[in-house]
Amino acid sequence: YFVSFEGPDGAGKSTVLKEVLDKIGPKLKPQYLVTREPGGSKIAEKIRDIILDPANDKMDAKTEALLYAAARSQHVEEIIRPALSEGKIVFSDRFVDSSLAYQGEGRDLGIKEVKQINDFATGKLDPDLTFFLDIAPEVGLNRIQKLRPGQEDRLEQENIAFHKKVYAGFLKVKNLYPDRFVTIDASQPIDDVVNQVIETLEKRLPE
Ligand code: C5P
Repeated sequence: YFVSFEGPDGAGKSTVLKEVLDKIGPKLKPQYLVTREPGGSKIAEKIRDIILDPANDKMDAKTEALLYAAARSQHVEEIIRPALSEGKIVFSDRFVDSSLAYQGEGRDLGIKEVKQINDFATGKLDPDLTFFLDIAPEVGLNRIQKLRPGQEDRLEQENIAFHKKVYAGFLKVKNLYPDRFVTIDASQPIDDVVNQVIETLEKRLPE
């Protein structure tokens, strides 16, 4: 069973995922695996470094989308598929939907086009359940500026207009896949967000 966490920068995906698993991880059968994108395997993390290196600010949007897809292919084949085959529950901090929102909508490559290259990259692996941690882009960016001061430069390059497009992209994507998307209001206190994620998992995870 494959669960992804999606949302704009500053939605709190990583923190929520960690707290959820701190709470319910020990009870989970079968065993679970937590991973993240961009990255998640040694090769994929190297590709992540290329993509996120501020020195590569001239990167073409298609190059970026293909690098994300390349990293994801490695991540799927090396980490995610083997774990799923062993019957593990896999939790991923971001997956294909991030590319649809950031590269498809944010960078104007088209959601359909970016989905195609990702279907090739993943062999059409889709999550069974996707949490969309819903936060207005301004609020998310504001949180990051307070919490992770080191990242201001990168976030400034990608101005608020870009992040608004990404957010609109996420809304489109979740409407494309209403069966697997569950939206959680991420502006709530963290404990409430965590509890709502756990409630959904308790209903949806296989027995
Ligand atoms: O989730 P995390 O903060 O680790 O993601 C790192 C950065 O990569 C994010 O700030 C996001 O803006 C960017 N990203 C992207 N396209 C993706 C996935 C992530 O631009 N498909």
